[in-house]
Amino acid sequence: MNIKGTVTLKQGRDHSVKRFHPWIFSGAVQSYTDSLQDGDWVEVQDARKTTLGYGHYQKGTITVRVITPGHAAPGPAIYNSKIEKALAVRLEAGVLSHSTNACRLVHGEGDGLPGLIVDIYHDVAIVQAHSAGMHHDRMHIAEAVKAVLTQASLNVGAVYYKSLLDKTGSEYLLGMAAVPHVVLEHGSKFYVDWEEGQKTGFFLDQRENRKLLGEMAKGKTVLNTFCYTGGFSVYALQNEAKLVHSVDASEKAVALTRKNLALNGYDPNVHECVASDTFDFLKDKKDVYELVILDPPAFAKHKDARHQAVKGYQRLNAEAMKMIKPGGIIFTFSCSQVVDRQLFYDTVVSAGIQAGRPIKVLHHLSQPADHPVSLYHPEGEYLKGLVLYVE
Ligand code: SAH
Repeated sequence: MNIKGTVTLKQGRDHSVKRFHPWIFSGAVQSYTDSLQDGDWVEVQDARKTTLGYGHYQKGTITVRVITPGHAAPGPAIYNSKIEKALAVRLEAGVLSHSTNACRLVHGEGDGLPGLIVDIYHDVAIVQAHSAGMHHDRMHIAEAVKAVLTQASLNVGAVYYKSLLDKTGSEYLLGMAAVPHVVLEHGSKFYVDWEEGQKTGFFLDQRENRKLLGEMAKGKTVLNTFCYTGGFSVYALQNEAKLVHSVDASEKAVALTRKNLALNGYDPNVHECVASDTFDFLKDKKDVYELVILDPPAFAKHKDARHQAVKGYQRLNAEAMKMIKPGGIIFTFSCSQVVDRQLFYDTVVSAGIQAGRPIKVLHHLSQPADHPVSLYHPEGEYLKGLVLYVE
């Protein structure tokens, strides 16, 4: 890699990088090479000019995202070796199998590649850059993804770059593939459209939670709110739920849920899919459902929005707790990174108090092994869930 300059830290501000935390905040920086551009590779030094690591420079709160901690400069195969390690973790965890051909291959900081997401949908890989450096290196990354997967006999014919900014920045970096694509997850089929869909087209992070939901859905009347592609709905039906209703505010999401139900052999006219705001939908549904899923979008994307988000989670959970049938089960989630596990738990407790019903916690849920969290970067844990039994 072509190292374009140096970022020197203030005296005493080298601890976190030595402890493998990948972010260097602007407040820790003493000086940097004037000519640096967003996305450049830089060397990070302590105040005594000792090398601490290498990474991507970007103006802003996070000045450097460290990719290779330590003295050794990254060679041209740095992405290959990091992606090889990431694949080894997925294979070790047994994420891919004859019944699952979609998974996250690279989960940013959790895989030592801050700013980079790579998802695999059967024979297509989707690359998403959350930093200028990863955006800049996207072609290297695409080639590394293809080389590593080919080496492991996982056939990937196309690599698509999904821009965070707008559709015009999105393109096939290698090969081509048609959308929508059908993927397999624990034996269920789903259409994935990475060109039009949210994020990279599918929420892979709920895979294991959907499986647990399926195991608890047999014979029940199920309500899946914020359903998007209908993932939870399909799992409930695969496991003989009596009736499943799916709700999403977006017409496109509702259409996608209908298609996914049909793809797996279920009639979307029997298992209704409704375009509605969840809060409105819940109003007149007392004692109808025995299992309710609450998987809203991140109510808070920044710390400033945390208070509002907590109020949103509290209201949503309280409404569901009030309407669910006695003996019902609620799967409740938060994917807001700024609302941590404890705060989410406390919020659900206050919702319970507001609903005024006795409630037990059956499971604490999280993100799966293909969304790993570095022990030294707890910020990487974002998905929290609880399974509740409402008396
Ligand atoms: N549970 C889904 C992912 C949910 S993503 C899965 O397993 O794949 C969040 C979804 O919530 C989006 O599809 C969005 O359209 C929907 N949404 C956002 N606000 C909403 C609201 N107030 N009521 C209903 N749906 C909403």
